[in-house]
Amino acid sequence: MKIHVLGANGAFDGYNTSLFVKNDDGVGILLDCGYTVFPELHRQGLLPDVDAVLISHLHGDHTGSLSTLILYAKYKLGKRLMVGGADCKALLRLQGISDSSWKKVSPNGKILYQTMETEHIPGEEPNNCLFLENKILYSGDTNQSLLHTDFAKKADIIFHEATVKPNMTHSNIAVLNNAPYDIKNKTWLVHIPKNEYEEAQEFVRNNGFAGICKRGQIIQR
Ligand SMILES: [Zn+2]
Ligand SMILES: [Zn+2]
Repeated sequence: MKIHVLGANGAFDGYNTSLFVKNDDGVGILLDCGYTVFPELHRQGLLPDVDAVLISHLHGDHTGSLSTLILYAKYKLGKRLMVGGADCKALLRLQGISDSSWKKVSPNGKILYQTMETEHIPGEEPNNCLFLENKILYSGDTNQSLLHTDFAKKADIIFHEATVKPNMTHSNIAVLNNAPYDIKNKTWLVHIPKNEYEEAQEFVRNNGFAGICKRGQIIQR
C-alpha cells in the first residue's frame, strides 16, 4: 500500500494534515480534506484517483476543500464520491451540495474502516479517529493519546497529531512518549504547528518515533 502525504502541518500554517492511500482493491481513499488539500491533490496528479473521503471532524483544516472535491468528481469525472467518518451532511447542505452529489461509504464499498470517538476541544463535538484496512491508524485532532489502544497494537503504521507545548485541544508529545517502544517505532507525527517543528524533530529523533511527516512524502506499506 502506498501512502501519499498531502500535508502534515497544524491548522493555521503550511499544508493541512491529510493522507491519500489506495487499498488492495484499488479504491483511492483520502483521510481528511482541509482547505489546502484540493490544490495539493491537483499538484500531485491524484485528483482522478480519489474515490472516497474519510473525515475525522468538521474543522476547516480537515473539511475545507471537501465540497469542491465532491463537485469536481461530479462534474469533471462523472462520479459520486463516497464520504465517511464524521457526519458531513449538514455542513455539505449549507455549502449547497445536494445529498445526491455524494454517497455514504457503504459496508460493501470495498473500504474497511472503523472509527472511535475521542475528545478534541473539551465540551465540543468529538473527533473520530480512523482505523483503515486494519493497517493504518489516523488520529485526526485529539487531546487523547491513541497509542495505548487496541487499534494502535493492531496497526502497521500510525499517524498521530502532536504538539510540543502542553495544549488542551491537542496531544502533547510528552504524553505520546509514554507509549511502548514498538508502538512509537511505527508512529509518524503529523499536525505539528510550524513554530514547534524543530523542537519536535529533535524529540522524535531522541525518542524512537518513526518521524514527522512531510508534504510530498510517500510511505510504502
Ligand atoms: Zn486540525
Ligand atoms: Zn480540529
